[in-house]
Parts: sequence; C-alpha cells; structure tokens
Amino acid sequence: MGNILVVEDEDSIREFIVINLKREGFGVIEAATGEEALARLRVNPVDLIILDIMLPGIDGYEVCKRVQEERPGTAIIMLTAKGQDTDKVIGLELGADDYVVKPFNPVELTARVKAVLRRLNRKQRDQKIQIKDVTIDTEKRRVTANGKPLDLTNKEYELFLLLIETGGGVVTREEILNKLWGTNFYGDTKTIDVHIRRLREKLGDDPSCPRYIATVWGVGYRFVMEEDDV
Ligand code: CA
Repeated sequence: MGNILVVEDEDSIREFIVINLKREGFGVIEAATGEEALARLRVNPVDLIILDIMLPGIDGYEVCKRVQEERPGTAIIMLTAKGQDTDKVIGLELGADDYVVKPFNPVELTARVKAVLRRLNRKQRDQKIQIKDVTIDTEKRRVTANGKPLDLTNKEYELFLLLIETGGGVVTREEILNKLWGTNFYGDTKTIDVHIRRLREKLGDDPSCPRYIATVWGVGYRFVMEEDDV
C-alpha cells in the first residue's frame, strides 16, 4: 500500500492527516520539523512525503531539495497555504509531485496520495533501459555494459543516458552543453570531448572502431545502435 511520512508542525493538522491515512490502510510516520523528517527518512522506508512548507527550522522547500539529493524517487506532496500560488510553482519546480491547498478535506488528500503512488509505481516498472549489451537502471543510476558495472560520474551518466535516449540519432555538442550544464554555462564545447573521452575509456570503447559512442565529425556524437552501422 505504501509508507507515508507526514511532516507538519501543527499537531492538530498532522494528527488529522495521520488518522485519515491510517484509516485508508497506509503505514504512517510523523515528523514535526524538517530536521526530524530527514532523520526519519534515513532509517525508514518511505514511498511518499506529505510536506508542509512553513516549518520551524529548515522549511519544506529545503526538505524537498535534500530529499531529491538523498532519496531520489521518493514522492512528495506539498501542503500550501490558500492564496500562496507561488508556493505551488516553487514546490513543483523543486521536484514535488503534487500539492494540496490548506484547508483541505481528507477525501481530497487521500485521492491525491493514491494518484501520486499510482504514477510512481508505473514509473518504477520501466526504470530499466536495456539496449544492446547496455543496461541502465534510471532509479539507482547504475549502468552496466557488456556485463560489467561502470563507475560513472554524474555528468558521464547523464551524457551516456542522453545519447542512449536519443536512440542512435546525433546529439550535437550544443545540445549536450544545454542539457547537462544549462544555457548559462559559458564553458567550451571541449568540455564535452573530455567527458566523452573518459566515458569511452570506462566503456573500453575504441573511437576508431566504436561499439558504443561514434563521433559525428564537426557535429557531435551518437550512440551506435547496431554492431555494423559505423
Ligand atoms: Ca506549518
């Protein structure tokens, strides 16, 4: 069914949420502050967090950010105050899955919880990308090629995923820069060549006869889909 962490400093609201979730059969863990929430998250399996924004100490936004870093894949529903539309926007930009506006009724809240968990289950079912002898577990961010696990940095991982997701099409250096470093990055496209070189070394790929990453001269790179299409 799912384990839910409820983070709310107002006791009456927290208890109200907890009672309703328990009634629906969910496992519930409680926290009154952001710090407490992060501590509980480290020792308890949690599928979804109901997270109030206004908290003493670190606020809901900060908790949301840290959850993305420490426990990516955990769903988050933000609790926002009525009339604070910017809260919703910031929350969703920070990676929250949904929001519920206070005051809310328990039927609405549990309906949102169930909808988010359904989406999460669907996402987890296709978390593995398998192409040629490469397997990518997008939830754990683990890559194996030719039966060997690769120890990739974040950027190398994102770069490889981008090439694979493009399905053998050419990815230009500019696209790679924009997607991996953002449009405000003033670096050189040579940065990409360096990352490609390291990625190839880890893959054991020979650029003159590539099995995984082919250079498209003057344009960028592409993933080699078939053994003989280079
Ligand atoms: Ca509060």
